[in-house]
Amino acid sequence: MEKCDECKTGTIQNKEVEYILLGKNLGQYPAMVCNSCGQTLYTADVLDQVEAKARKLGIWGLAAKTRIGTSGNALDVKLPKAITNFLKLEKGQEVLIEPVDEKRFQVAIIR
Ligand SMILES: [Zn+2]
Repeated sequence: MEKCDECKTGTIQNKEVEYILLGKNLGQYPAMVCNSCGQTLYTADVLDQVEAKARKLGIWGLAAKTRIGTSGNALDVKLPKAITNFLKLEKGQEVLIEPVDEKRFQVAIIR
């Protein structure tokens, strides 16, 4: 049995696991999973399949650079179309904004 490189105590087992990306289940894929820390590794072939599936669903590469703009005395953030489509955001929708730390903030949709 192969030892885990991450925790050094567990052993690696071949398993079929669900691949979750952005909260969407992309299906079952073969993976190498540590029975102690749970570290999950995939072959390059499997990652190519995952990427192809995510692209098909329009959820691959949703991170995008944008700039802070102004709106009256407040600042605003322009959200790219791919992200607003994924989040099903509409003008006027209520959201909750909170800082995560000094470099990040999160916006939660209030539905
Ligand atoms: Zn481990």
